Amino acid sequence: MSKAKTIDGKTFATGLRERVAKEVARLKSEHGVSPGLAVVLVGENPASQVYVRSKGKQTIESGMQSFEHKFDAATSEADLLALIERLNGDPAVNGILVQLPLPNHIDEQNVLRAINPDKDVDGFHVLNVGRLWSGADSLVPCTPYGCLLLLKDQLGDLSGKRALILGRSNIVGKPMAALLLKESCTVTIAHSRTADLPERCREADILVAAVGRAEMVRGDWIKPGATVIDVGINRIDALELGSKDDGSPKTRLVGDVAFDEAVAVADAITPVPGGVGPMTIACLLRNTVVATCMQSSISIQDF
Ligand code: NDP
Repeated sequence: MSKAKTIDGKTFATGLRERVAKEVARLKSEHGVSPGLAVVLVGENPASQVYVRSKGKQTIESGMQSFEHKFDAATSEADLLALIERLNGDPAVNGILVQLPLPNHIDEQNVLRAINPDKDVDGFHVLNVGRLWSGADSLVPCTPYGCLLLLKDQLGDLSGKRALILGRSNIVGKPMAALLLKESCTVTIAHSRTADLPERCREADILVAAVGRAEMVRGDWIKPGATVIDVGINRIDALELGSKDDGSPKTRLVGDVAFDEAVAVADAITPVPGGVGPMTIACLLRNTVVATCMQSSISIQDF
């Protein structure tokens, strides 16, 4: 049986970051504009701290300015909103990202709505959500946009393909559906109440899994020859799911798809780690450049 191609998101993301850095250099030399990204972190969530550190590092590496704002977990919503208002008015800041999740006492939607939509590099503001669904140009959520870039690189024209998206979150599932609809795919969104889920998955030429459940999608859920994008990041005990105790680290990352089974059926699949994960920050940097161009009425280069 032939083995699926592994879609190398790490290499693709490196190339995208290089293209971003070139574009940043062009904006500086030709327009005297230096893009800046502000990242806001509330609390001490370890995963969020890691993400924010990587975002800051990669922002600087691509030649942009990075502004980090850290608050303790007890910070009030009013203080956070006051900072966002300041960042909205700061000409050095072209992109604003509030790291989610926020502590429970803060209304996430209130905070996202306060961000100037033109600086909303996460694409979560309702105005950008509406623009995306109505087919207008918008700032698009980074993870699904990264998935789209990988799919287009793998398949070229997506029109007419049957796509199934497993998961309906505002961060991944729904914007992924909007993006694939825009590419003229026939889109199904599945979720925890979907009947006959394996059957629905087997109909898909493109299967995007964004569930957050380790290896839920089995090999026999996949249509032979399908392209599989695994967004899930699940940290499991290394001995779970049948791993051998070979003295290697005690936890490991797996996706939402049982990779070893899927490679025997699919045409191409993203690994976890090294697939979708690296694309998210690369797309955030790209969005910051796009936002900068929009704010300065500079035509956007295709990169
Ligand atoms: P959410 O928890 O917000 O959404 C999960 C979705 O999966 C929901 O729509 C839920 O359905 C659905 N679901 C849960 N259980 C089942 C089930 N048994 N059968 C069918 N559907 C189910 O997760 P996110 O969208 O935020 O993230 C999904 C995964 O992607 C996570 O592993 C996350 O870590 C990862 N991720 C990775 C990123 C990256 O950079 N690579 C970025 C963002 C997320 P319902 O709505 O009915 O409850």
